[in-house]
Amino acid sequence: MTDKDLSPDGPLAEAGDRAPPRILVVDDDPTSLTLLGEILDPRDFTVIFCTRGQEALKLAREGVDLLLLDYQLPDLDGLEVCRRLKADPVTTNLPVIFITANQDPLLEAKSLEAGAVDFVTKPYSAAVLRARLKTHMAIQHALRRLRNTHQALQKAYDALEDLASTDKLTGAWNRRRLADAVANEMERLKRYDHPLSLIILDIDFFKKINDTHGHMTGDQVLAALAALVQSSLRVTDALARWGGEEFVILTANATLPAATLMAERLRASIARTVFPTVQHLTVSLGVAECLPGEDWESWFKRADAALYRAKTQGRNQVQVAPERPERAGLGENVGAGFVQLVWHPAYESGQPLIDRQHRGLFADANGLLTAVLSARPADEVASLVDTLIQDVVQHFKDEEALLAAAGYPGFADHAAIHRQLVEKAGVLVGHFHAGTLGVGELFQFLAHDVVARHMLRADREFFPYFADPDAAPAAGAEATVQAAI
Ligand code: GH3
Ligand code: MG
Ligand code: MG
Repeated sequence: MTDKDLSPDGPLAEAGDRAPPRILVVDDDPTSLTLLGEILDPRDFTVIFCTRGQEALKLAREGVDLLLLDYQLPDLDGLEVCRRLKADPVTTNLPVIFITANQDPLLEAKSLEAGAVDFVTKPYSAAVLRARLKTHMAIQHALRRLRNTHQALQKAYDALEDLASTDKLTGAWNRRRLADAVANEMERLKRYDHPLSLIILDIDFFKKINDTHGHMTGDQVLAALAALVQSSLRVTDALARWGGEEFVILTANATLPAATLMAERLRASIARTVFPTVQHLTVSLGVAECLPGEDWESWFKRADAALYRAKTQGRNQVQVAPERPERAGLGENVGAGFVQLVWHPAYESGQPLIDRQHRGLFADANGLLTAVLSARPADEVASLVDTLIQDVVQHFKDEEALLAAAGYPGFADHAAIHRQLVEKAGVLVGHFHAGTLGVGELFQFLAHDVVARHMLRADREFFPYFADPDAAPAAGAEATVQAAI
């Protein structure tokens, strides 16, 4: 049984309004119990008796509608029982009436403070007690109905809220909901420097679909397309219907290359899909990553301009807004209109082997990106992933040997970072081969975290050891390592 089942609102509501209310009488005096048993007509009330406070707490949790509580009990005093009932969410709404022979003039106030709804002193009139019980039961009943109505209203409100924030035809978010999500994500970008990208997707020649097959088929295509896109997104991505046959995908934590890969995957999977009635259709997509300090209008405009290019250059393709955030002045650069890691002379460490390997890793990452963007077969992509990983592992090994030989003081820390990166890469590649991780996420990690971020940030700390010929025996170390390869 759950706490919800035990709620004082539960059993009575389920039993229906005509079931007699259950009254728990807690009193250790046999005379009082007998008297109450005679007063409470079983046609009006189901009466349960107990003599101890602990037992009363247990029975109350099992579902009663009202408690008649004596002040003096053998274990807990009545006030304590009342306080504990009020503190327990299961019994907090249970009405408690004190019945006591205690003459303490402050007791009534204390009882009410502890949460009791009424206070009756012995000796009492049977008619008055019955009338009070009926009044409290009526109040309970009214409160229960009020709570039920409130719950039903809350549910209706939630449903309306949902309707107001999603598009009826496709179930995608509407512009209002998207605007909220964009505001949140842009705030995260500002605070934590998390990358954030945007894809605009527009169906090609949709008007022709309507003209040829009718508006209703057009509607079905829109719903099927939205479902297909939705099923390929990560939980952190959001799909919104921007209007007509145009959709927006907000990709949290995705750099431009990762979002571009995602867009390309979507394009390819839509082009492969057989839709009811119309059979085949294609989409054009524009991608832009939000620049630091950029506002929504400018960001959206850049993605829209990329989409326009995709349309004018033949449709059924992904185009990328060329501007890229220059994170801390380093990181990926973009070749004209195409996402690539571009080597820059500032990335040179001065150690020939390290520089050659760093350049090689840039080339590996670019090769992988090109293969994915040009829809090369899956086994070719998988083998490029493996090559990149092997080259990373080899490079880390060589770099560590050189750093050790150069007496680099940050050696242990740097080697530990390498181990973590390799471990994470191993896990991600495992998921990738098992089909549970998309190439986009994997690329983002390999190209962005390992190649661009680690190589161009952490590695820069040891560059001075190689740049200055007196600081480290770079040439000798390289010869040693090359001989060992
Ligand atoms: P392009 O490749 O340049 O995008 O051409 P297009 O035909 O897809 O674009 P255009 O903007 O010329 O036409 C879009 C059509 O989408 C026109 C409009 O009637 C139709 N449309 C907009 N909203 C809906 C809708 O909710 N249901 C249906 N069935 N059609 C819609
Ligand atoms: Mg269109
Ligand atoms: Mg390194």
